[in-house]
Amino acid sequence: MRLVSPALKHIVFPVLSKSGYLRYTAGAGPAVVTYHGVFPSGHRILHSALDGNLVHADSLRRQLQLLKKRYHVITPEDFLRWSEGELSLPPRSILLTCDDALQNALTEMVPILRELGLSCLFFATAASADETPSMLWYEELYLMLLDASEPITLSLPEANISIGPSPPAKTHSCWWNLVELLSQFDGELRRGFLDQIRKQLGLDESWKQRLLQNATVACRFLMLDRAGLQQLAASGMTIGAHSLSHPVLARAPDDVAWREISESRTVLEKVLGQTVWAFGYPFGNAATVSRRDLRLAEQAGFRCAFMNAGGGFGANIDRFAVPRVHITADMSLSEFEAHIAGFYRTLRKRLLGGDDLATALGA
Ligand SMILES: [Zn+2]
Repeated sequence: MRLVSPALKHIVFPVLSKSGYLRYTAGAGPAVVTYHGVFPSGHRILHSALDGNLVHADSLRRQLQLLKKRYHVITPEDFLRWSEGELSLPPRSILLTCDDALQNALTEMVPILRELGLSCLFFATAASADETPSMLWYEELYLMLLDASEPITLSLPEANISIGPSPPAKTHSCWWNLVELLSQFDGELRRGFLDQIRKQLGLDESWKQRLLQNATVACRFLMLDRAGLQQLAASGMTIGAHSLSHPVLARAPDDVAWREISESRTVLEKVLGQTVWAFGYPFGNAATVSRRDLRLAEQAGFRCAFMNAGGGFGANIDRFAVPRVHITADMSLSEFEAHIAGFYRTLRKRLLGGDDLATALGA
């Protein structure tokens, strides 16, 4: 649960940011931030659950300018050397990361990073090693549910899935239920089930093609293809792996989870011709990643692996569960700094209690 009251957002965070309190009281670092891409200009936000993880180009520029002015943005390679005890970093060091390798990462985000002379660690799924671009399956599923005639009723006996009738107000919970259930299967089987879902929702075969005819929608939702991924690497950015097909790993059986983690490294290394040393857990919070997955990432030969929660200065850093600050579209600049500084995490823990990330991951 995110804790942002109007008083925090409009009074407390701005005062703490402006006074310098946040940066001067920041705990030990480094801190790692997660982006998920930048809205292509003209993009119409379809649903906050879908689009809330991306940011507007002007927000990204302002956030990065603040980091450049008040913090030390480090390279992914310096983070790796630090994590292995080979390098010490200046206080208030920050690593930038971005998940999913959507096309807008290359077209909208990289130009801003390059303009400011910053590097970033991009986590791509194995879909970005293909010659044809595709969408993240769980985003495709959400768009299908939004386009379906209501109420939603689904029956997939081979997957032991039976849904509905589910009213429009329940679309989000219905979607997440399906995401967890379908994460038990490997990417190919899941693709077959998605096809069945499309048909049962009354969407014809050219539904996706029609959706992606709009260049702005395509740039928002399609992941990079092989040529795009190679271009991202050639622009000076570092590429990490984000699983084969982005399942909820904690819901996947052992053999599926192992292939999702280990083969994503080999597939990307083959098309990039370079070592892939970092892994970003799909979804990346304590509910979607298990202790088993941390062990698998280490066994697969990654040298560090990143969660998508619990970040900010002062957080404990486990090399195979590196906490990150998840940046969202609705964050003000001072709220962004409160997250980076670890102030938000500490405040939330004091007010709501709860475990730190390592404890929340369980035994
Ligand atoms: Zn992701």
